[in-house]
Amino acid sequence: MFWADELAARLTGPQVVNDSKTPSGTVHVGSLRGPVILDVIVRALRAAGLETTLLYGVEDLDPMDAQALLTPDAVERSMGIPLAQVPDPVGDGHASYARHFAERFIDTFAGLGIHPDRYYWMSELYAAGEMDRYVRVALDRAEAVRDIYRRVSRVERPAGWLPVHPICPTCGRVGTTLARDWDGQTVAFDCLPDLVEWATGCGASGRLAPFGGAAKLPWNLEWAAQWSHFGVTIEPCGKDLATAGGSRDRSDAIAREVFEREPPINVPYEFLNIGGRKMSTSKGRGAAADAIAEVIPPEQLRLLFLRPRPNQAIDFDPDGTDAIPRLFDESDRIAAAAAGREVKGELPPHPERLFAAALVDPHADLRAEADAYRPPFAHLALLLQVPAVDLAERVVAEKGEALTPREEEILAERRTAARAWLDSYAPERARLEVQAELPAAVGELDPGQRAALASLAEALGTVAWSGEALQAAIFDAARGGERGVELPPGRMFAALYLAFLGQPHGPRAGWLLASLDRPFVEERLRAAAALDTLPA
Ligand SMILES: [Zn+2]
Repeated sequence: MFWADELAARLTGPQVVNDSKTPSGTVHVGSLRGPVILDVIVRALRAAGLETTLLYGVEDLDPMDAQALLTPDAVERSMGIPLAQVPDPVGDGHASYARHFAERFIDTFAGLGIHPDRYYWMSELYAAGEMDRYVRVALDRAEAVRDIYRRVSRVERPAGWLPVHPICPTCGRVGTTLARDWDGQTVAFDCLPDLVEWATGCGASGRLAPFGGAAKLPWNLEWAAQWSHFGVTIEPCGKDLATAGGSRDRSDAIAREVFEREPPINVPYEFLNIGGRKMSTSKGRGAAADAIAEVIPPEQLRLLFLRPRPNQAIDFDPDGTDAIPRLFDESDRIAAAAAGREVKGELPPHPERLFAAALVDPHADLRAEADAYRPPFAHLALLLQVPAVDLAERVVAEKGEALTPREEEILAERRTAARAWLDSYAPERARLEVQAELPAAVGELDPGQRAALASLAEALGTVAWSGEALQAAIFDAARGGERGVELPPGRMFAALYLAFLGQPHGPRAGWLLASLDRPFVEERLRAAAALDTLPA
């Protein structure tokens, strides 16, 4: 069984699925793994007939704690201030720093088919008093919380420590304050210059009632409070939080022992690692979720996260590699398997189920989607680089019949993706220029290569003008054609690349030739073959 269906099979009753994020800066594409997993769980639960609600929260009352993300003049002003109170650093119309980064991230959800039933902003929940009862319980049971930190995570809090962060009424910082002396109505607080390294408190002290947004809970309590407040039954989390004695264990214990509620089911998931090096930002688009979503269409982006099980890490390095074309190829293999066609090589488990999970529309006609013609990504990337080529016409020739309206959409999506890939992430070797004149490099061809090119030129008259047919003709010509001279395929391909591109490597040769006009190809092959005396 597919892992999400396994989960659904062991549940009964209404379900609430939750996730949340601190919008502390540009959100990396790997952060989409959580929302995609959440969505697939929600779809599986609903398909199993369980009434299911999907929630997505933004931890925007968390303090600004990353100096590198601020302009130098904003550091002193903004460090330690709740993200909801820090100005939008770009100034493109968002109400705050938190709104800027959270909304740019959240805006990618709909395109990926992820539709939370409700978004919530912690700054609003606190301000509306909806966290008050949890703040009160946490303060009343501060000793129990201290004991959990000690027992679960071996973290020792000093005597009298209180699980609440007042927001300093003088300087507005939340990261710099320490609370003590809960009297049932108010706490005493100090805003300390040296409590944390990343922000400097103003030195104010006093008493305040920690309600209605005047204070926030530490993360582990806030997390458990969300579970109680919304009745959360399932919450996947990243493996960094899910280690033994780690954040999730603490919040689970707080849920049980402080808020007296069973914590939600966890579906821990591994990270997506972007290569071993920093993504270049000069020509590339970087690894921001919204930037990657502009290059990889939703179906393939969902598949990137779903092909491995949640507990398996994903290595993905789009910059200067074939990672994106390979993702499309894998997507096409899975679609072919879902359509019942024979597929070479190893397939992931449950390819049909995986295919459905990757689709943006959970109610799509699976058979029609799987049957749709999907032009290979590498072929489109090639066609886009050949001058004056009618891309749609070539794709129709490759398919062998007119495209359906859905196939037109797929083509348009892939054309955009291939264009964006060439403009940003593609390696140099994927870039090519068909030479208008016979390249001087054909002087390097040996007699065997010339003979094979001549054979191919002769055979072309009867070959269908499609990538597949031409690829087969190229192999035939390498095997000797009419002249009976065998040439290793690698040398045959090198000869073709030299003749057309002036370099010894290139994309799949059959598709390269199919992207060009037949008379041009025939003439070029003959010219390259005739450079020297052919063997008898
Ligand atoms: Zn202060």
